[in-house]
Amino acid sequence: MIRNKCERIFTFIFVILLLIFIIFLCFRKKTVTIQNTTEALDTVITVKLSSDSLSENELNEVSLKLFEEINRLSLIFSATDENSELFKLNNSKHGTPYPVSDELFDLFEISLKYAYLTDGAFDITLGKLINIWDITGDEKQVPSDDAILPLKKLENYKDISLDFKLKTVTYNDDFDVNLGAIAKGYIGDKVKALAKSLGVSFGTINMGGNILAIGEKEGGKNWNIAITNPKEPSSYFATVSVKDKCVVTSGNYERYFIKDGKRYHHILDPFTGYPSENGIVSVTIIGDNSATCDALSTGCYVLGLEKSLELINKIDGYDCILINENGDYFTSGGISKYNLDIK
Ligand code: ADP
Ligand code: MG
Repeated sequence: MIRNKCERIFTFIFVILLLIFIIFLCFRKKTVTIQNTTEALDTVITVKLSSDSLSENELNEVSLKLFEEINRLSLIFSATDENSELFKLNNSKHGTPYPVSDELFDLFEISLKYAYLTDGAFDITLGKLINIWDITGDEKQVPSDDAILPLKKLENYKDISLDFKLKTVTYNDDFDVNLGAIAKGYIGDKVKALAKSLGVSFGTINMGGNILAIGEKEGGKNWNIAITNPKEPSSYFATVSVKDKCVVTSGNYERYFIKDGKRYHHILDPFTGYPSENGIVSVTIIGDNSATCDALSTGCYVLGLEKSLELINKIDGYDCILINENGDYFTSGGISKYNLDIK
């Protein structure tokens, strides 16, 4: 009799627990994932976003907001758009303090930090040199030595002064600024922060050679990020495995033209005035901040193997993979944590 009663109570509790479990499964928010693509910053940008709290429509709206933000910021940093803030600054009277937006000031500050850190290998004051090379233009001409000579070894980053109180920038010499080597990285950081604030739980932002992982993959897994094979850009050289990090690559296969059998690419050595030629053909930097990764990937490309490894090994939280023209690769000391897998 007592046994029977106990059995009934247990069955009752079991049924109740089962019901609670079923209700929990039915009402549990499912993870929603979307993928959208746009063209901006001279590249294809793809965002893959997942959320535990937003609907598919809401996530699609978020991706549109991210694309709007990319367009808003590129209109500040563009060196070619006549309406951009940078274009106006470049065309303002040099030698006079010029008031700029917080974002432009911020990017100047970061850029100068990395110009000094790389001894001018990364230098935002190459505007005129970049223009005469016009790597992606229709002409595809190697500029004459006479045109290059006055534009090399100028180290004009030393001729920029920033007023932190008044938020002004002063060009103390005759040069133009081009932020092409860092703007995409800076914009990536802003867009990632915006995505998180709008309810994105995890995902990836792919901006050409710049990839930003938001959080970790579903189930606490790492993201596998491919590093392009510089010899065959449609295939990949290696993968790295990351959580919430940026992986930024500068390579000689991104933008270039071939003239008389020689490749002229878009990363210029400020000291020769020519595309950087030191045997390195690809530099990948991994770290938390994509503006930093972007500046360092361009700077290290120009610095070459030894100086780059020495520099990156000194910077806490940042690692690198350099590939030379023979397909040999070289890494900073901390790379093992990213499970580098060479194909
Ligand atoms: P990508 O634009 O392919 O991501 P990078 O981040 O390396 O590649 O930036 C290269 C761009 O930066 C060039 O197209 C040019 O506008 C500019 N640039 C070229 N050489 C330098 C340099 N030594 N320092 C700073 N900017 C550079
Ligand atoms: Mg760069």
